[in-house]
Amino acid sequence: MALIIQKFGGTSVGDVDRIKNVARRIKSYVDAGNQVVAVLSARAGVTNELIARAKQINPHPDEREMDMLMTVGEQETIALMAIALQSIGQPAVSRTGAQAGIVTDFEHTRARIVEISGGDIPLLLSQGKVVIVAGFQGINKHGQATTLGRGGSDLSAIALAAALKADICQIFTDVDGVYTADPRVVPAARKIHEISYDEMLELASSGSKVMQSRSVEFAQKYNVTFEVRSSMNDNPGTLVKAEVPSMEDVVVSGIAVDKNQVKVVVSNLPDSPGVAAAIFEEIGAAKVVVDMIIQNVGREGRANLTFTTSNEDAHRATVAVDQACKKIGGGNVQQSGGIAKLSIVGVGMRSHSGVAAKLFKTLADASINIDMISTSEIKISVVIDLDKADRAARLVHSVFGLDAK
Ligand code: ADP
Ligand code: ASP
Ligand code: MG
Repeated sequence: MALIIQKFGGTSVGDVDRIKNVARRIKSYVDAGNQVVAVLSARAGVTNELIARAKQINPHPDEREMDMLMTVGEQETIALMAIALQSIGQPAVSRTGAQAGIVTDFEHTRARIVEISGGDIPLLLSQGKVVIVAGFQGINKHGQATTLGRGGSDLSAIALAAALKADICQIFTDVDGVYTADPRVVPAARKIHEISYDEMLELASSGSKVMQSRSVEFAQKYNVTFEVRSSMNDNPGTLVKAEVPSMEDVVVSGIAVDKNQVKVVVSNLPDSPGVAAAIFEEIGAAKVVVDMIIQNVGREGRANLTFTTSNEDAHRATVAVDQACKKIGGGNVQQSGGIAKLSIVGVGMRSHSGVAAKLFKTLADASINIDMISTSEIKISVVIDLDKADRAARLVHSVFGLDAK
């Protein structure tokens, strides 16, 4: 008998028929002799709708109340799923994040998991029940509901798999697996059979939303092998696991586009030691995640600093920089959108040269201007105009030989 954690995303539980479908799928695994813990997302669109409603009232709503609001979405689907399973003769019971003992820190809307007890899940499983857990949510040590960042149900599933020592963790979604690029943007994208944690993490943190990046980080840390596959068919999916040597044969394994980026420009700063430190200390204290950073050469004692961050963090970033500028006694901050980040990822880059040159030439030949560049051992990212991002992705995908034959 195996213990399987199965996560079903928003589209997979998007309406009553899909919920019934998933219930039948879960039951088939139980009938085959397994124990199943299912982690669910809210119905597709519900979390966005809840956020939009709050923002109609206040564009920067209180984060504790946002968590109160957002956890509603997952509570609907877990109850409906338990009802669906019970009605086909499968004993099942739902649990909130708090009831499953998912304890987090105090950072509302982007909390980190600090421990998972699992609550009474082992007992319920031993009674032959399927346990349905609300994804994306936890509870802090003051008893307040928290959420784990957008797409956080992936993290709930992987963290539960680690805590319960599950045999298998399956992420069921609306595509057949992890592709060489988002198949909705690059029709020629191919399904990847196996991918390393490092590559999956770089793709996820570069905007490929098929997996939440923090969930991949967690899986790597606790060595949870997981499979990404479709909830609509039985096709084999993608295995995400520790690296094996043969993975280095492929130079570029995937491409990601992040359209959720904002550029923050801090101009007219005093060009003196400690200025960048003062700014990024303030940004760090505001828990803003900064991506690319460029500081230009100072002129006449003044300098500019530019960095990118996500749309969600942009407001907090601007407020933090403003505060820093006041302390420093100089500098103006400005935000601008209309950009996208294109990234190419592959562990094979470690042992191959000329990858960056090939990327830059491809973009140059297509008259696509590069605004910012950053690299890591296995990734190259460029910031380009938002309206050219999809075309760039298709071109680069083809140039690096990723197109389906
Ligand atoms: P879920 O609701 O199941 O969590 P998401 O919408 O969060 O699903 O993630 C699945 C989506 O991720 C797909 O529909 C696809 O458009 C997108 N996606 C982006 N990059 C990739 C990729 N490299 N491979 C597969 N899907 C991708
Ligand atoms: N419902 C949450 C979101 O939309 C969590 C998830 O779907 O994973 O971000
Ligand atoms: Mg998701």
